[in-house]
Amino acid sequence: MESAVSTSTQVPDEFDRNVPRICGVCGDKATGFHFNAMTCEGCKGFFRRSMKRKASFTCPFNGSCTITKDNRRHCQSCRLKRCLDIGMMKEFILTDEEVQRKKDLIQRRKDEEAQREAQKPRLSEEQRNIIDTLVDAHHKTFDDSYSDFSRFRPPVREGPVTRSASRAASLHSLSDASSDSFSHSPESGDRKMNLSNLLMMYQEQGLSSSPDSKEDEGSGLSMLPHLADLVSYSIQKVIGFAKMIPGFRELTAEDQIALLKSSAIEVIMLRSNQSFSLEDMSWSCGGPDFKYCVNDVTKAGHTLELLEPLVKFQVSLKKLNLHEEEHVLLMGICLLSPDRPGVQDHVRVEALQDRLSEVLQAYILAHHPGGRLLYAKMIQKLADLRSLNEEHSKQYRSLSFQPEHSMQLTPLVLEVFGGQVT
Ligand SMILES: [Zn+2]
Ligand SMILES: [Zn+2]
Repeated sequence: MESAVSTSTQVPDEFDRNVPRICGVCGDKATGFHFNAMTCEGCKGFFRRSMKRKASFTCPFNGSCTITKDNRRHCQSCRLKRCLDIGMMKEFILTDEEVQRKKDLIQRRKDEEAQREAQKPRLSEEQRNIIDTLVDAHHKTFDDSYSDFSRFRPPVREGPVTRSASRAASLHSLSDASSDSFSHSPESGDRKMNLSNLLMMYQEQGLSSSPDSKEDEGSGLSMLPHLADLVSYSIQKVIGFAKMIPGFRELTAEDQIALLKSSAIEVIMLRSNQSFSLEDMSWSCGGPDFKYCVNDVTKAGHTLELLEPLVKFQVSLKKLNLHEEEHVLLMGICLLSPDRPGVQDHVRVEALQDRLSEVLQAYILAHHPGGRLLYAKMIQKLADLRSLNEEHSKQYRSLSFQPEHSMQLTPLVLEVFGGQVT
């Protein structure tokens, strides 16, 4: 009997490498290492039988037969000699008992594996559908090519702002204000969807090049128009994403607005992690014009009090190496937080959030090896986002109180983040 159990399983690595798969005895196709040499099944069996029988053969010819696939049965003596010559060893042959033990071991491993497989948590079909929906929603609202960024008012990065440069910048944004295509998009016309602005801008202190000159104060934030457009754009995308979260649209309009208003900046911070790079600690959204470092964001009025923890947040989030499924679930969970100000139907929002949390936990268990602590770490990120949100609001407020800055914002930003313009 040709047992499936042989020493061949002991050296799979060598077999996997580029060892020619030719029987060292007869030249037939080899099946692996058997008793210490690469051989075919025929020569493997021949060697084992010969050793077990302690057979002694005599060559009918002159003792130097060349063994081939076709003639290997003609001279057992030379075939066995060839076996020994290429290194086959009887010590490698297992006793029947050993064979049985090995078979048992293999069977036990198979059983254990099957058991593990059976116990492996599985996502229900409903959970699977929720994930598919969210991933799809994200793909529809996050454009990897960032091709829309060229439609924003252009980024202006000169250092200390000169009077003429700042004037040029503000002139540019003024002339653009009337033709800004996305601030007049259908969505921004919709009152509830009109939450416009981005994540890092606003705040007067520290950056103005000429603090003594009232006249120039408003033009010091050279990146504000561009980043305001970027935030405004991102808010629209977050709204689009939210609308596709199962159950979101069944909430009252008031609750939808309340959720969006308070979570938009957090979701923007979350989604921006996709473009964040650990190599240079910046957000890369296409060409060099659309690569944003901390310094760029300070030129939109934000201070390090926001930017330092924000970058830290981006780094730690990046290091979680979330699967896309986890990333989109986290955004959904963030959006559906029942404790946001203004939310009326807590119970319903909480039920929606709980469902997403369960999906996330189930997903991690089933699909994220080594993700034992991942869920807890992700929830911690939501707490970090709350304080980033708070700091952002503070900085936004002080920026938006200055008409020369708030006039650079879009209606959607003003609506979502609050603030009155006149
Ligand atoms: Zn052979
Ligand atoms: Zn011979």
